[in-house]
Amino acid sequence: MPFFLYKSAHIPVTQYHCQGEPLPTDLEHPHQPSVSSFLVSPEMVQFTQKHILFHNTPTWGHQKPIIPFSMQILRSRPNVVISVLTCADVYSKLSAEVDKLPDELREDAKVRFHIIDISGVIFNPLPPVLEFEPTFKAIFNGETIKCLSSGKEYNLPPVTVALIDPFAGYAIEAIREISENKTPYLLWFTGTAGVGLQYFRQTPSEKLNMHTIRYGREQDIMPRLPEFLDSVTGETITCPGVATMYDYEKYPQELPIVGDMFIHLGRKYIASGQGMIIVSSSSFEREAIDATKKWFSSLGQVVYPVGPSLLPDTPSSAPLTSARCDAQVPVVEFLDRMQKKHGERSVVYMSFGTFFWPKNPEKVWAVIEELLATGTPLIWAHPSPFCVVPEDKLKLFQDSDIAFEMQWAPQKEILSHPVTGWFISHGGWNSAQEAMYYGIPQIYWPIGADQPLNAANMTLVKKAGFELIEVRTGEYGTRKMYRFKDSDPKDLPTFTVEAVRREIRELVTKLKGEEGLAVRKSFEKISREFLSGWNEGGEARESMDTFLKSKSRDASPVDGNNPRPFQNRPALLMSNSRTHGTRINNTMEHIRSQSIVNAIWHQTLPRPSIIVVLAVSWNSFESRGFGFISRIGGFGIRSTAGSTMSTSAPGKRVIVIGGGLAGASAAHTLLEHGSAVILLDKKPSLGGNSVKASSGINGAGTETQKAHGIEDSVEAFTKDTTASAGDDLARPHLIHALTSNSAPALSWLTSQFGVDLTLVTRLGGHSIPRTHRGKGGAPGWAITSALIKKLEQAENGTVMKNAKVTKILQEEGSSGRVVGVEYEVNGEKKVDHGSVVVATGGYGADFAGFLTQYKPDVVSLPTTNGDHATGDGHRLVQNLTGAKKGVLCDMDQIQVHPTGFVDPSNRDAKTKFLAAEALRGVGGLLIDRAGKRFVNELDRRDAVTTAMQQCIDDGKGPVRMVLNVQAYETLKAHCDFYISKGLMKKYPSAKEFTDDTGLSLDALNDTFTAHSGFAAGKAKDPFGKTNFDNADYNVNDTLFIAEMTPVVHYTMGGITVDGGAHVLDADGQKIPGLYAAGEVIGGVHGRNRLGGSSLLEAVVFGRLAGENAAKDS
Ligand SMILES: Cc1cc2nc3c(=O)[nH]c(=O)nc-3n(C[C@H](O)[C@H](O)[C@H](O)COP(=O)(O)OP(=O)(O)OC[C@H]3O[C@@H](n4cnc5c(N)ncnc54)[C@H](O)[C@@H]3O)c2cc1C
Repeated sequence: MPFFLYKSAHIPVTQYHCQGEPLPTDLEHPHQPSVSSFLVSPEMVQFTQKHILFHNTPTWGHQKPIIPFSMQILRSRPNVVISVLTCADVYSKLSAEVDKLPDELREDAKVRFHIIDISGVIFNPLPPVLEFEPTFKAIFNGETIKCLSSGKEYNLPPVTVALIDPFAGYAIEAIREISENKTPYLLWFTGTAGVGLQYFRQTPSEKLNMHTIRYGREQDIMPRLPEFLDSVTGETITCPGVATMYDYEKYPQELPIVGDMFIHLGRKYIASGQGMIIVSSSSFEREAIDATKKWFSSLGQVVYPVGPSLLPDTPSSAPLTSARCDAQVPVVEFLDRMQKKHGERSVVYMSFGTFFWPKNPEKVWAVIEELLATGTPLIWAHPSPFCVVPEDKLKLFQDSDIAFEMQWAPQKEILSHPVTGWFISHGGWNSAQEAMYYGIPQIYWPIGADQPLNAANMTLVKKAGFELIEVRTGEYGTRKMYRFKDSDPKDLPTFTVEAVRREIRELVTKLKGEEGLAVRKSFEKISREFLSGWNEGGEARESMDTFLKSKSRDASPVDGNNPRPFQNRPALLMSNSRTHGTRINNTMEHIRSQSIVNAIWHQTLPRPSIIVVLAVSWNSFESRGFGFISRIGGFGIRSTAGSTMSTSAPGKRVIVIGGGLAGASAAHTLLEHGSAVILLDKKPSLGGNSVKASSGINGAGTETQKAHGIEDSVEAFTKDTTASAGDDLARPHLIHALTSNSAPALSWLTSQFGVDLTLVTRLGGHSIPRTHRGKGGAPGWAITSALIKKLEQAENGTVMKNAKVTKILQEEGSSGRVVGVEYEVNGEKKVDHGSVVVATGGYGADFAGFLTQYKPDVVSLPTTNGDHATGDGHRLVQNLTGAKKGVLCDMDQIQVHPTGFVDPSNRDAKTKFLAAEALRGVGGLLIDRAGKRFVNELDRRDAVTTAMQQCIDDGKGPVRMVLNVQAYETLKAHCDFYISKGLMKKYPSAKEFTDDTGLSLDALNDTFTAHSGFAAGKAKDPFGKTNFDNADYNVNDTLFIAEMTPVVHYTMGGITVDGGAHVLDADGQKIPGLYAAGEVIGGVHGRNRLGGSSLLEAVVFGRLAGENAAKDS
């Protein structure tokens, strides 16, 4: 019997009946917290639920402060629910932040703070989130909305007030239109008031038309960005309390994409609502806040400064979150060691955050080298996806005992450690605030957005930081700055790498001297004042209260009486079951609960004063229950879900090693078969090389192919794969497993995970177009992240990051059965038991190990692989110590991909970006230094690589890839990414290219003309190309060109398995309890892997491994 009534001393109880049976009234359970502890005092019952809705562009800096501010509201107003409508990437990040909250806040957040992914992954934050409009409409109409990441459904109360990013104009327009201006909204601004004044008080561009704002697509907006470039006139910009600068100083570094459309959106919308919530404070920028308040008040609006971003009850000395970062142990050990040796405040911490990275890393290396040369202990984090660290720079850290390098830093542990003295950062507002929490002054290296202004304010106006000047780059960055307007020319910065080195040496002296001391003191004073904002009577607290009490237009304020008070209404207690063991998502119970709620909604049952829900776990409760319960506007919905519940199914448990596509596919298949899964990955984030895959995934006989009228078959795919593998190394049983399972694998991805695979192209070596991808960005990312997200939500799945498996355990005796693993997490050794699926990827970055051992001639090449690809799984299986050992095959078969990008600003980088094979698939040409083609671009990878290598060896390099506009348009998202990274260059015509490079325009013209002729069938291509997409090349048209180099890309060798993903021993016998999938297995591709077949191998063998392990476990 699922429903109960709760009898309370305060609130009268009405008996609801379910399916004719009276409901029992006694329901305290000995193991659960007392139900009455969830009740609120009767006078509070008069409030209805109020709903604050957030929506921002998916930039992390705009999202992160939502959590502390929301927690402050939730803590002070028990009648508020908050929803954040966002995209998949932000959903994961915000959810991770919620997980880090202290227990009590986290529990509350789970009930009243809803992060809802309405759009899936977003690659570019500039175009509108088109899903906002229908989602808001659904909420407005009282309809259910669904979170795409978690699958949970929500029936949210009507929106009391919306807090919207000024850059999300589409959302503002939708709210106004749908609610007919009845839903009040305020702007949510996560920068400083100074930036708002400097950037947003002017008229927006007329080019910002309503269609672009509301419905502009990425492909329409990106080419138009230059139209939104503010003309740089060299005028000065001045605002109260803000450092004066020349207008071009907004661009201290060369940036590939100019995002000035954001500035114009800010201008249009910043003062369009009923006011602005700004995450800043008067203690930090009094004059600018005052000026902003004046400006808004002249428009009848209010500004609410709610900085800093602090959680409730956080002592100002230890704020933000109780971060639990697994990577912290070695870092803290390093910091402790530095403290012993060099004393407090001796370490410099450098990080540019999760996005920004200077265009010219030469200057970063110079800074690192000089800091180390001056004996300054350094800790460096480089989480930006744009940062590629060359081997020799990594070696600097390996060779030094005062340097520590990592991709992701436990920033809280670093900044709060007494040894940390200075923080080199870009100076974005979030990092500036974090520095203030811990009183660590910053050394600014502004890159873009609000950073130059923040840096100038802190250094010039407040004298509370240092700024690096010589590190500036680009046309505007290297112009004369306002601060030097009267300087002697000989004292002006020169922006050379040598000048950067000099600047660092001088800075180190300053940091240790009087000037450093004075700057630190000013900074500490500012941070103390800033952090007091949430104290009783502090500005932030007062602002929040005033905001919650404010009555905007026709709407009631967040604080206010319910027009239909719940007083004297009965309490309703709902539960999934009488006892603990039963799960709430039992369908019958769910339907019954819903029917009661519906009855209340339709007023056939009286509205209760309070709803208390007993649930086994929040996941199940929220996904099935809370959405519709919240619909009846009940107050005080709480769960008694307790930690006594078991989260996993008993018995069957399988350990998956590796969180790339193979591991994620295995894990999901295991879950589908009812097993419990623990997935271990040694890196701080999942995804491996799988998230890098850029061309697509193969399938023969798929729905997509049929929709495109492409006839394909397993036989044709098998034939192509066998030909590519080579007669001597082709293994028919493995090829059959791959090709015959291909169409079902793709159908699984689309039906179970909603992955878009509606485009299909033909890659080298395929006789038929069969490589699938979606319309969004990189297919590897789209596929893998969809699986990972769902996995992280799964009830029976546990994902552990930073967990490196070091040993596979076997039973004693002759069976050799695998029974578990040993792994290290945070320096601690752990053991887990169960069957094992090895999915650790390849060894394409194992230069000193397997590559030297098996294929020394490729060791000098760069690689496209991540640094995790070191063949761990191969060694784990090879080094088994029990009765059976795994064996490796084809280890000398290394795929060198012909086309890795040479980055002109870092030619020698060991890790290169791959120029996706799809670039040649859509018509890209390869030319030598004379402008001549030398190969069939669509030949197999090994053939193209050989031809390229020959070309380079014959002195005919560099090799370049050329795309015409049609080819560019077909792969626009890829190309724009490459262009933004400076890897590919756009030329208005061939003339500019030949002028730039010295190639002969006539020779290029001849190449283009001949190629068009081959495509038109006038003659046969001498290199054997028969498939011509986008073949019309003309020297007068726009061209997209990049330099190419061969790169180590994929490792065909690996663990010997059978066609069911069982690991085999030297006698070809299965090793019980051991499976392997993905790039770690050997033999599927023989001598050469076809493009698109590795993602497929990961899914197919991952599924086979999962299925067989589930049967076995
Ligand atoms: C740039 C690039 C582009 C590509 N493009 C394509 C393409 O378009 N189509 C295609 O089919 N293929 C492509 N590939 C190849 C393909 O992406 C990979 O071969 C495939 O995704 C491998 O998947 P996996 O799950 O086996 O390994 P990975 O995705 O590499 O995952 C392995 C995981 O195991 C973890 N791990 C390793 N050792 C341990 C340990 N000791 N303990 C715990 N965890 C461990 C790693 O951290 C990693 O997360 C591309 C590869 C690259 C590098």
